[in-house]
Amino acid sequence: MACEIRTVETGVGTAINPGGVRMRRVKVDPGDEYNDLTVVHELPSSGKRRFLCKCSCGSLVPVRLHHLRSGHTASCGNVGWSGKVSVLR
Ligand SMILES: [Zn+2]
Repeated sequence: MACEIRTVETGVGTAINPGGVRMRRVKVDPGDEYNDLTVVHELPSSGKRRFLCKCSCGSLVPVRLHHLRSGHTASCGNVGWSGKVSVLR
């Protein structure tokens, strides 16, 4: 599961929390690895941020930022079908 940082309000009587309103833009660079996926570059998008990623099997797959970071999408989906095939005989 993703570990989310929760904002804890502690100051009783403290109305303003300096630096509390801080938008942290997720930084994803080409070459970053998430499980079997390696970020190639960010895809142009008007909505959700998406990244073109290269799977360990060589496939290119577009992945949403959220799915990438949460581990929801850890590969192109072909894992188990390429490379490693059980010998049945
Ligand atoms: Zn793959």
